[in-house]
Amino acid sequence: MPSISFKGVDYAYVDATETYLALEDVNLEIRDGEFLCLVGHSGCGKSTMLNLIAGLERPTRGEILIDSTLVEGPGPDRSIVFQNYSLFPWQTALKNVVFALRQTNKQVGKAEAEARAHELLEQVGVADAANRYPSQLSGGMRQRVAIARALAIDAPIMLLDEPFGALDPMIRRRLQDMLLQLWEGSCCKTAVFVTHDIDEALILADRIVFMEPKHIVKTFELPANRDRTAAEDDPAMRAIKDEVLELFEATEMGRED
Ligand code: ADP
Ligand code: MG
Repeated sequence: MPSISFKGVDYAYVDATETYLALEDVNLEIRDGEFLCLVGHSGCGKSTMLNLIAGLERPTRGEILIDSTLVEGPGPDRSIVFQNYSLFPWQTALKNVVFALRQTNKQVGKAEAEARAHELLEQVGVADAANRYPSQLSGGMRQRVAIARALAIDAPIMLLDEPFGALDPMIRRRLQDMLLQLWEGSCCKTAVFVTHDIDEALILADRIVFMEPKHIVKTFELPANRDRTAAEDDPAMRAIKDEVLELFEATEMGRED
């Protein structure tokens, strides 16, 4: 049940010709066991935040700590579902999940790993695709395999970058429920979930962090012990939704692209 801290974090993308400051002096405390949603327009730095927690990038300035330990690279305590749900193209859906299982648990035998991978693919609704390669799957199916792979890793920190973006509403709802069940049953993983869908954030989050380019604008604490399925009917939730939608509109006007 780890906590995550951003302390005065800048992140700049540097290439041969220019430097682009994507995050500037970001400070954030993510509590252990919290389900935190990062929301904001495309390009505001959400994926950059996630990649920094994952240890795939290092801050240009400031630091990121997990339980007081400096993040210096990726580790088995964090699983990530990337925005582009990258799978190994040379492995079947099943083998992608088996690989993740055996990465984190070297003791597990082949047959056991395969049985567990089948279960996970079943859970996310792509059991039939077990023996197909990523190139033979639709975008939504690939995304679900990527989710199964992240579940296989069973890390105390789950990082999810718009994992349900390309899915139709029914499947999306099912996977949201599944993710919540998993998170609640784990008691409790720390989850950082990127979305630009406010309704999704209201269903999932304990806290919503709204970003504009480079900065956190505001955080919203959601009512404790709420009925996650009845977000629409709760006046407190409705008020938060309205305020977030206003922020979306306000930050839209100032956008450069
Ligand atoms: P989000 O996930 O919120 O859409 P990102 O974190 O992906 O935003 O990107 C934040 C900003 O950094 C954007 O303006 C984006 O164009 C820029 N950016 C992202 N990746 C790179 C990169 N590899 N090189 C240069 N700029 C980048
Ligand atoms: Mg992104």
